Amino acid sequence: MKPQPLNLNVRGLSLSATVAINEQSLRLIREGKNVARLGLGQSPFPVPAPVVEALRSNASRKDYLAVAGLFELREAVAEYHRRRSGTIGAAEDVLIGPGSKELMFLLQLVYYGELVIPTPAWVSYAPQAQIIGRRVSMLHGRAESGWRLEPGQLEELCAEDPNRPRIVVLNYPSNPTGGTYTTSELKELAGVARRFGILLLSDEIYGELHHCGEHVSIANFYPEGTIVSSGLSKWCGAGGWRLGTFAFPRDLHWLLDAMAAVASETYTSTSAPIQYAAVRAFRGGMQIERYLNHARRILSALGKAVCQRLRRSEIDVLEPTGAFYVFPNFSRWREELEARGICTSEELAQRLLAETGVAVLPGSAFGRSPDELTLRIAYVDFDGAKALAAVEAMPADRELGEAFLNVHCLRILEAMDRTCKWLESGRSSTAAEEVAAPLSRGAAE
Ligand code: PLP
Repeated sequence: MKPQPLNLNVRGLSLSATVAINEQSLRLIREGKNVARLGLGQSPFPVPAPVVEALRSNASRKDYLAVAGLFELREAVAEYHRRRSGTIGAAEDVLIGPGSKELMFLLQLVYYGELVIPTPAWVSYAPQAQIIGRRVSMLHGRAESGWRLEPGQLEELCAEDPNRPRIVVLNYPSNPTGGTYTTSELKELAGVARRFGILLLSDEIYGELHHCGEHVSIANFYPEGTIVSSGLSKWCGAGGWRLGTFAFPRDLHWLLDAMAAVASETYTSTSAPIQYAAVRAFRGGMQIERYLNHARRILSALGKAVCQRLRRSEIDVLEPTGAFYVFPNFSRWREELEARGICTSEELAQRLLAETGVAVLPGSAFGRSPDELTLRIAYVDFDGAKALAAVEAMPADRELGEAFLNVHCLRILEAMDRTCKWLESGRSSTAAEEVAAPLSRGAAE
């Protein structure tokens, strides 16, 4: 066999964990298995109708656009941040890219510094640093502190070498925990960041999916050093459209310019029709507000129901305040699981998929120690369009209870019941029989 001259930094790198679980689930589905797809973190909701309409009317836009993005869109994004977060900023402070993931990669490429990742953290930050060859420091959150980064942890790390350039990624509402920070916690973290001159990358891609619509940006408390990352993928249900945004402070335009220079030599510019449609999304308005309110109500009710079920089986889990994830901890089941040969989160996720058809991701994919028995559940396997239409027809003050969830999100509730039964099946034969019963058919089947 010929030698394979792979760059050292990418040797041993495999497909991102989320993409891999999605492919494995699809393979099982092709083989005729009924799989609850709670692995990939994709919005269950359709793109809002006015945004789809805007894309339709701009389908013929065919020219390359400016590398930093369509000026009208940069203006709309800056206005959006002013409206939503009260931060100050203008079109010139905004960079548009083909997904915020790509922009994060460019940022790490152009900025020569260590990447600090509070864990549990989204799967791609660390591999990006590895590809580029940057040093990574992980700050591991504690379950007792809601998995959040504590200011003392950051302070301690920075104090070891106060002058080292660092990018600290803060992601909230969080993928994978669904948790967020209080305003006073954000202020404290901002204080540490300012003291050490940290470059803060605030990944607020789930900001609009705060379940009460009360997301607060840390850029309010550390405006001079915070880059706010957002995009269409989550709140607008348009992950496949590939559009991300970075909003920079004035003093960091040199970074924006360096990223734009690299972009000009790599992807040139973001898809033109998508950028025109994104202008409509970021301008917002009544229809988009209504869509977001309904989406938040559904995600909030479902998150609570998922946690209730898990807790009934003594699984520790933080109730989510945003996004569509929960991060349960199965450590109370360690003895029973070890007796079944399950000692790591990866084994837990694999056996759960193979024996129950419930696809989730292991905590190890989020930077946690392999033997910590945590999983990330993306509670998104339901028909979001139907659920939104049903909420639209209901009075605004009606709570979305079990009756609603049993009609619109049944598969997810069943998948939780099945997970619990599977755990208990080591103890009871009735539970084992129930695990073998088929799941309801999914929206996509
Ligand atoms: N940040 C977080 C926390 C995410 O969960 C994701 C996508 O799953 C991204 C960033 C990337 O989003 P985009 O589609 O804008 O590249």
